[in-house]
Amino acid sequence: MNNVKKTLKIYLDNNATTPIHPEVIREMENALEFTYGNPSTLYSIGKEAKAKLEEARTRVASIIGAKSEEIVFTGGGTEANNLAIFGICKAYRNKGNHIITSKIEHDSVWNTCKSLERDGIDITYLPVDSYGMVDPEELKKAIRPDTIIISIMHSNNETGTIQPVNDMARIAKDGGIPFHTDAVQSIGKIKVNVEDLGVNLLSIASHKIYGPKGIGALYIRKGTRIQPILFGGHQEKGYRPGTENVPGIVGFGKAAEIADKNIETEGLAFLRDHLYNALKEKIERIRLNGHPTKRLPNTLNVSIEFVEGEGMVLALDDLGISVGTGSACATATLEPSYVLAAMGVPPQIAHCTLRFSLGRDTTDGDIDYIIEVMPEMVKKMRGFSPLYKEYLRRRKETV
Ligand SMILES: *Cc1c(COP(=O)(O)O)cnc(C)c1O
Repeated sequence: MNNVKKTLKIYLDNNATTPIHPEVIREMENALEFTYGNPSTLYSIGKEAKAKLEEARTRVASIIGAKSEEIVFTGGGTEANNLAIFGICKAYRNKGNHIITSKIEHDSVWNTCKSLERDGIDITYLPVDSYGMVDPEELKKAIRPDTIIISIMHSNNETGTIQPVNDMARIAKDGGIPFHTDAVQSIGKIKVNVEDLGVNLLSIASHKIYGPKGIGALYIRKGTRIQPILFGGHQEKGYRPGTENVPGIVGFGKAAEIADKNIETEGLAFLRDHLYNALKEKIERIRLNGHPTKRLPNTLNVSIEFVEGEGMVLALDDLGISVGTGSACATATLEPSYVLAAMGVPPQIAHCTLRFSLGRDTTDGDIDYIIEVMPEMVKKMRGFSPLYKEYLRRRKETV
């Protein structure tokens, strides 16, 4: 077993983060060593750094169909979400006091809204259906004359469910309300275009697309009124002051360029569906969380009744397989996922959840190996579950 652990590494937690692409590493190494100038300076070493920065901006803009001047680099997806929501609130505070979001947002939107709520802003958290989908009609009903921003994620990090963002952005536009979407999980996995979507603001994170961590971007549509939340120099047109993280930005730009060329959904979805179908055949009482079709091609979120998700993660780790539970944050607290709760999944089932998120390195062999080892592992773990024994006894009685 130890041997297996040493030699085998199957990484299926790409929604938590992705391994950095080798070509990105090369560009970053180059930037770290040679592009050390401060982009705000006038001499050629500084201008070189500035040119690299702008090249990266064009690459990031291109992946979402934006103009490069609409991209502001931030310190990651979390900061992009904070800038979008706090920044709009600051610009619109005299217009109103109401924000609309959903019950399934990432912590970086959820806790931003919670913080504003403590400051006296009204927040409407839209519900979702059992697939984790927000209903645009519910959004329409929630809009008030004093609504200043709507923030609904593009796709969910836990379940992969893709929201009808263009319908909702249209509703927002009709009401003259800025619309923000956290598209961190969608970029690089499915086509995302800001013109098709009609959003005002959109968040991206580099480390979810095989780039470095700690760098991201906020798309700000031309004409959107927004205030900075950090203060300092004039970098990023004052929206995000501080000397730019040039190597990070260069790496992000390269990752965006590669991702733009390699959006490949069918192969991943095929492998993912093969995994689910095979597990379903061999493991009873397993259920899919998320929309059956309107879902990221790489994401498979399942509940396997009578086995704790955390226990499965550790047992799979012993077999050289890395997967997620509900979400990284839920893991730290051992609270059942609020996303699954919003979808109506009972807590005892939500606790039995695993998230497989496939990536560019995932092979047929990886999936076959999981299909081979997992049913046996689940069987063993269920052997320790009094609830499972009870279930078996009851089932025998009813047969
Ligand atoms: C990972 C993630 C974020 C946070 O991005 P960081 O760069 O890690 O701060 C935000 N939203 C979603 C949906 C994510 O998956």
